[in-house]
Amino acid sequence: MSKRMIWGIDLGGTKIEGVVLDRQSNNQVILRKRLATEADRGYEHILHQIKKLIGEMSDEVGDRPEIIGIGTPGALDPHTRLLKNSNSTALNGKAFKTDLETLLGIPIKIANDANCFALAETRIGVVKDICPEAEVVFGVIMGTGVGGGVVVRGRVINGSQGIGGEWGHNFLDESGGECYCGKTGCVERVIAGPSLQRYYHEISGREKTLKEIVALGATGDPYAQQTLDRLVHFFGLGISAVINILDPDIIVLGGGVGNIEILYTKGVEAAAKHTFNTRFDTRIVKPKLGDSAGVFGAAFLVEE
Ligand SMILES: [Zn+2]
Repeated sequence: MSKRMIWGIDLGGTKIEGVVLDRQSNNQVILRKRLATEADRGYEHILHQIKKLIGEMSDEVGDRPEIIGIGTPGALDPHTRLLKNSNSTALNGKAFKTDLETLLGIPIKIANDANCFALAETRIGVVKDICPEAEVVFGVIMGTGVGGGVVVRGRVINGSQGIGGEWGHNFLDESGGECYCGKTGCVERVIAGPSLQRYYHEISGREKTLKEIVALGATGDPYAQQTLDRLVHFFGLGISAVINILDPDIIVLGGGVGNIEILYTKGVEAAAKHTFNTRFDTRIVKPKLGDSAGVFGAAFLVEE
């Protein structure tokens, strides 16, 4: 392998995406390629799909990786070496890293998708653009779930248990009810997309998508406004806990909920209200890379 290229794979529930970046030309994309995960065909099949994709990519660029970074749903437990906390449940409890290294014959570096998101936004995304001096970055994907990642001086903090940055499963409010993780009242259960839709349905009796709720909020629908006010309140309350512990220079909000404009105005005010400071310097911003962040972040793992 030439030292010129870095390789990353983003393993998702429906697709596996790969990228090869040119290190010597500002991480320009040499190749980007996708393959269906076909997760319903089981764990072994997922591993072979990854191998197949890397094989095809190798043929196209005329080179093979010596090491590869992989973004996964879930996290590698540093003690058991098994994957856990994945919403792609076929992966939970499996020796994913060891099995894949054996199959590929090369070492791999693994981080969960939110960590990859935070790393990519730090290295080539919004953080690099507007806050390149940042020492501490907190990146959150607020979509169907809530996943977070912490990057300190350019490095992902996985933590001693592999749960670094998992703000989504902090306790936030009893009203969230039971979470798939076995706990109750998790951040994810209060402010992720499905939770907002569930709350809107509870108070209005109507089923609406997240986009519809946001649009209705702008036209004066009282139930939508109540849903968004509640989001703002709990976002501020929840994120202030992260700010008081980490005091990040910048927080990047990805995912469908991260698109909601009110988070960058009233949401910031709500966070300031609960933060242990008389000023509020924390920048809370939208991402730059969108859905591409995961695969770029995976590639940057090999440089860690
Ligand atoms: Zn949870």
